[in-house]
Amino acid sequence: MSYAQKRYLTYFLITVFIMGVPFITIDGNHLLLLSFERLQFHFIGYAFNVNELFIMPFLLMLLFIGIFAVTSMFGRVWCGWACPQTIFRVIYRDLIEGTMLDLTRIKNKQKFADFSKPMNLFKKVVAITLWSVISIIISTNFILYFVASEDFFVYMQNPSEHIFMIIFILSIAGFLVFDILVMKENFCQYVCPYSRVQSVLYDDDTKQVVYDTNRGGDIYTKGEKSIFNIKEWSNNEECTTCEACVKVCPTHIDIRKGFQFECINCLECSDACTTVMGKLGKKSLINWGSTNSVLNKINTKFFTQKNIMYVVAIVLSILFTIGYAQKQEPILAQLNKTTKLYNIKDGGIVTNNYVLTIRNNQNKPYSYNLSLDDDRFFVKRFKTKSIKPNKESKFILIVGSKTRLDLSDTKVTVLKINMNISTKENPELKIKRELSFIYPRNDAVK
Ligand code: SF4
Ligand code: SF4
Repeated sequence: MSYAQKRYLTYFLITVFIMGVPFITIDGNHLLLLSFERLQFHFIGYAFNVNELFIMPFLLMLLFIGIFAVTSMFGRVWCGWACPQTIFRVIYRDLIEGTMLDLTRIKNKQKFADFSKPMNLFKKVVAITLWSVISIIISTNFILYFVASEDFFVYMQNPSEHIFMIIFILSIAGFLVFDILVMKENFCQYVCPYSRVQSVLYDDDTKQVVYDTNRGGDIYTKGEKSIFNIKEWSNNEECTTCEACVKVCPTHIDIRKGFQFECINCLECSDACTTVMGKLGKKSLINWGSTNSVLNKINTKFFTQKNIMYVVAIVLSILFTIGYAQKQEPILAQLNKTTKLYNIKDGGIVTNNYVLTIRNNQNKPYSYNLSLDDDRFFVKRFKTKSIKPNKESKFILIVGSKTRLDLSDTKVTVLKINMNISTKENPELKIKRELSFIYPRNDAVK
């Protein structure tokens, strides 16, 4: 199987996965969703409300350390094998223009179609139309990571009420058309920040696309091309100077010059050289390996101090993410005291008022019970209506002492009381909140 075939298979699997993720739910929560409308972040079946995003820093750490670790060990494997930009360019350039319309040649990306021929112009229009339709499908799929798929299809029944969403989809699609048709691989070289930082993460053990100068010979001397023809070799250098590896390169570089930040590790040059050298009964001169394994002929070390530190940091980030995900509470509730300190009633009874906000972060409607851990106090006539999933309600809460309490002759006393909040339908769904109850000086209580 050539690298190209392996890449196409990988692209297909990634595309199916990315397209499918917005439709995958676990217990009613999405695999991945950042919903601004619901103020929720869904991750592997957990739903976090906006005030519970304590796992976000660990996910971001995981993302960045993961990128550093993968780049340090496997170079730009992301760029060649998984980046949407690369996949989109392969769909447009190789599948639509190359295979379907025979407008360009996959094996020679340095040669462009002659648009003075009307048929080529017509093919170009067909290619742009096809890519525009695909762009709209991609941007629609993209928005499903921000608008829950079940909501999206309801919204689309009344598109005029969701104009902003439609403009957003069309804007993303417009950018994709511009990016893939106009910017092309320039996006990787001049816009993507990853290509700029990856070179500082490389060392001689990093996997990359390497031309074997030991076998092939030095085509370049001090950065300048010095060998143009096979006849110029003085020894047994194997490179045929056929330039197949140069012609096929989508970023228009010559890998025989050595490491270049433009190289996206697509390995098309390696496949091209495999074909050429295969006819001579030899192996490819261009390999996917480290400088140490290909040029210095020593084993690649994966367990370097740097890589071990990356792995430790990744494991810690995963543990923190899982640990904090478990901290998620089944009910979201906020208890705030009103501005008035207390009310004094007959018989030494003192009441305090609070505003209780309950948000139902479960998938079913629930109503709630309240109780206090301290028998000296009561909650006055608390009745909750059923709260729908992902909705919240506010309640005025009156908590009072059952009798007169002799607490202090000199100052007001602040008592900490635990309040239990549970759902009526499932008593297992419960949380505790601490409230501050203010009781006046003894001489103020009748
Ligand atoms: S040199 Fe060109 S063809 Fe070879 S891996 Fe890099 S980008 Fe791809
Ligand atoms: S494809 Fe191989 S043999 Fe041909 S020029 Fe490139 S490295 Fe040399």
